[in-house]
Amino acid sequence: MSKLIHSESGSAGDFTPQAVAERAAALRAELTRASHEYYVLDQPTMSDLEYDTRFRELQQLEDTHPELRTPDSPTLRVGAPVQSAFGRHKHLVPMLSLGNTFSADELVEWEAKLVRMAGRDVTDSGYTVELKIDGAAIALTYERGVLVTGATRGDGTTGEDVTANIRTVRGIPLRLRGDAPDHVEVRGELYLPFDGFERMNEARVKSGEPVFANPRNAAAGSLRQLDPSITASRPLRFFGYTAVLPDGRTPAESQWELLEQLAAWGIPVAPHRKRCTTVAEVNEWAHHVEHTVRAELNFAIDGGVIKVDRVSVQQDLGIIGAREPRWMIARKFAADIAETRLNDINVNTGRTGVLTPYAVLEPVLVGGTTVTFATLHNADLIKAKDLRVGDTVQIKRAGDVIPQVIGPVPEKRDGSQKPWQAPTHCPSCNTPVAREEDGVGLYCPNIACAGRQLEGLVHFAARDCMDIEGLSYQRIKQLLDAELVHDAADLYQLTVAQVVELERFADKSAENLIAAIAASREQPLSRLLFALGIRHVGAQAAQLLARRFGTLNALASASVEDIEAVRGIGDVIAKSVRAFFDDATSAKLIDRLRSLGLRFDEPEAQQASGTLNGAVVVITGTLPTLSRTDATAVVERAGGRVTSSVSKKTTFLVAGEEAGSKLDKARDLGVEVIDETELLRRVGN
Ligand code: NAD
Repeated sequence: MSKLIHSESGSAGDFTPQAVAERAAALRAELTRASHEYYVLDQPTMSDLEYDTRFRELQQLEDTHPELRTPDSPTLRVGAPVQSAFGRHKHLVPMLSLGNTFSADELVEWEAKLVRMAGRDVTDSGYTVELKIDGAAIALTYERGVLVTGATRGDGTTGEDVTANIRTVRGIPLRLRGDAPDHVEVRGELYLPFDGFERMNEARVKSGEPVFANPRNAAAGSLRQLDPSITASRPLRFFGYTAVLPDGRTPAESQWELLEQLAAWGIPVAPHRKRCTTVAEVNEWAHHVEHTVRAELNFAIDGGVIKVDRVSVQQDLGIIGAREPRWMIARKFAADIAETRLNDINVNTGRTGVLTPYAVLEPVLVGGTTVTFATLHNADLIKAKDLRVGDTVQIKRAGDVIPQVIGPVPEKRDGSQKPWQAPTHCPSCNTPVAREEDGVGLYCPNIACAGRQLEGLVHFAARDCMDIEGLSYQRIKQLLDAELVHDAADLYQLTVAQVVELERFADKSAENLIAAIAASREQPLSRLLFALGIRHVGAQAAQLLARRFGTLNALASASVEDIEAVRGIGDVIAKSVRAFFDDATSAKLIDRLRSLGLRFDEPEAQQASGTLNGAVVVITGTLPTLSRTDATAVVERAGGRVTSSVSKKTTFLVAGEEAGSKLDKARDLGVEVIDETELLRRVGN
């Protein structure tokens, strides 16, 4: 076992026998309580790192003192016993847990142990490596290709029958494609993508419900809803990673082929899997996934899973106790959760005036980066999480670079923590704050607010807006501090002579900046509209408006009703656009931008009213030539709208290779199904 494990008071060998027994009993009690909170209540109070560290300590104590191992020890068990209102489902063969490694060296040790256990060189089998999805394990039973049961892992032998809920998960095929065996159990991980998780928590804040701590708990909790319509409303997804036949056999000769088989049946399989020949290659992959891939994923992973590839070798290696297969192991990553002190809560004024509270933290290392600030989204979320200044909080970096505050650790309060009061005045300009229409956000209504100007200009120059190269946050701040600019129009009046006077500018960089600003005059109306920072107008709404109205003048003179009539634009956006053009300050800005020669029209406008006017289109599967984004653009340019799910309102479904449940649904509902060639024909291409 690992040499890394140290209890708070020293290594296992330092204890007296009495102390060892007491320590083991304490760890058992702690881990049992944590498992119940984690698996049954979906409300962990311990971090995974703490759990894993204590678990290993107990394992080590039991290894050196086997007499201390009790039959109910968490080290001998998988998950937690079934306790819910659902029916029970007995698994064909047990669903097991996994052993853990935390470093490249431990993985090398693991391989050496495999060879010792097998008594021969088993390394020529190679390894298949996969992402370790941080969700909830489920088993899907298919009979004659049709989904008949879906169950949780439970205690590994018996799980809960959650079939009605599983059926609502998009991406889980109700029928397998191709030649499926008569009876097969597909296993994998149910998870919530980060974007869906965020949306769900925002909705919960609005309706006053408590937020979920993380996507894993949210996925596990969503799965155990008694009302399947609640599960259906959660954006759950699934990745399969294995399958079992009724006699316990695996329907493939290697793990790699098994994954290919799953994909061929229409089961989603996680990306970034790889077949490796050596442990060195496995370690290289793990390093790449941990340091590069992980940050780009839209779902949580807590490591990689390394599997001996050849099934015959897997069988030779067998299982350790009743808990872990010997032939596969998790390679866990450095914790991306850490605890630190919440020193303060400050408020930032954004470009549209939205006031966003953020956490000022005692600097802490999370996932390899020092974190000092983290977003807190809005005042209601702070209340829902009951965050107090001075709290010990858990911080997470996941999916993107913006760190999040998961929540406080209430047990660590000493009475000095202070509840936070939302601001009544804008921290930048002291104007009394207003509430957003949705009742959640606060904003500063002062268009001339200094805080808004800085953020507004940063947004104006951003890549997906006017794309002004070299106009960074720091440079905008310099220009504002030197009072050379106050608004976007001022940028177009800057001269090289003015800029070169500023610190850190040379002749060349000043010339380049002025040239980049000048070039941005040619950006189309859609970008300008987004760049102007009109409340509620994002990139997509800007594009819809630009295509429909064609010129800024046409849009500026349109009524709320005209604007609302654009498909995809609701009354909130329409009113906000009208209010923007009615405002004297913004009207003056527009006049100046016009006289400074900015392009006020949209080259693609005419194509907007096309052959698919009013059509509601769903795209599924892999199309022969068009990517999903390109196909969407084709539909939108012809006046159609692309939605993600098939319903009675769908005009037609464009189906490509490996189309799954959407195709089935379209057929069930009698929705027309066409291919890419037909789509291109309909748009006259
Ligand atoms: P595990 O999560 O460490 O690993 C086993 C699970 O990994 C499998 O059941 C499967 O669902 C999943 N998995 C994801 N991708 C996979 C893939 N590609 N191939 C195979 N399996 C894959 O083990 P566990 O028994 O589910 O949970 C133990 C872990 O849960 C602990 O290590 C700890 O981090 C956490 N835990 C935390 C607490 C807490 O209080 N914080 C309590 C209990 C458990």
